[in-house]
Amino acid sequence: MSSFSDQNGRRRLAILGATGSVGRSAIAVAQAYSNRFQTVCVTCARQGKKLQKIAQELHARYCFCAFDASVSNVGSEDELCELLAGPEIDVVLCAIQGLGALKPVLAALRAGKTVCLATKEVLVAAGEWVMETARQHGGRILPVDSEHCAIFQCLRHEDHDALRRMILTCSGGPFYRCASEKLHAVTPAETERHPTWAMGPKITLDSATLMNKAFEVMEAAWLYGVPESQIEVVIHPQALIHSMVEFVDGAVLAQLGPTDMRLPIQYCLTYPERFPSLMRPLDFASPMSMEFLPLDDQRFPAIDLARRALRMGGLAGAVLNAANDSACRRFREGSLAFDAIVPAIAEALAHIPAGKADSFAALEQAAQIAAETVKKY
Ligand code: MG
Repeated sequence: MSSFSDQNGRRRLAILGATGSVGRSAIAVAQAYSNRFQTVCVTCARQGKKLQKIAQELHARYCFCAFDASVSNVGSEDELCELLAGPEIDVVLCAIQGLGALKPVLAALRAGKTVCLATKEVLVAAGEWVMETARQHGGRILPVDSEHCAIFQCLRHEDHDALRRMILTCSGGPFYRCASEKLHAVTPAETERHPTWAMGPKITLDSATLMNKAFEVMEAAWLYGVPESQIEVVIHPQALIHSMVEFVDGAVLAQLGPTDMRLPIQYCLTYPERFPSLMRPLDFASPMSMEFLPLDDQRFPAIDLARRALRMGGLAGAVLNAANDSACRRFREGSLAFDAIVPAIAEALAHIPAGKADSFAALEQAAQIAAETVKKY
């Protein structure tokens, strides 16, 4: 089967969240291979002017800014969903931040499309719904998140039944070596610097609390259908290994590479092919060392919460995601200390509404209850 199957030999892309960090990296890849990719549609939430410029540069036919109709020639989110499901798009790259990504992702999967997924919140809050939709309609999710893309590559030619565990690597964020007493006084400004990856502000704060890694445990569980007990997290400050898998015979496969999101994005966009990259490769001729440290669950309890949410199922993931949003907002506003973010989320996990995460109404209700709990915390 040819992977570049549209008429003119170019894969036709929709890039959702085109003005963000992952979106811009995706555009860089699409531009580097403009003979292989045609960007048909770009979207963003608020940065209309920026989006308009991007659309012009890429000659994208469709442009949708959720909060600025003046730059959009797609009338509504529903129209966007129709477009993604229709014959003009081959691949949807979703880098929208948060649950706003859910509707377009479901629409694309229902139409049997390939979705290169960077938005982990959709799997955290509605993993079962999303995976079941993909299964039912022949849609495919390719993981853009570097850890999951690493696992995807490690499993590619392997017998999945022979998997013993997945090992997600974690840089530890900016405060991993910080003493517990000091964590209390961490300010929003201090959380905005990440030691290895340049990312948007939301994911950078999530990386500081390790909530991002907690989300990634859930993401891995849904993507690969494994229980949380088979997913481990190890601190690996150099971030040379993007993640590993271990098989029943004890063999461990790891994926290494430069810390640049353009690599996993390119892998997903060109899958199942590999295209040359213009990035500077790892240099094994100069000294380089790799450290692995155990995760300190006492100081960073976020990952335990993710495990708990996975075991609870139902709407626990939706509550976890919404509680994180609320707690982070309170931290930025100055009404919650850094080391109270994760305990506030834990409190929300004690109030999970009954039911499954299989409708927008159920997710909305879970989010409201979570927000109220965090507000009172
Ligand atoms: Mg990641």
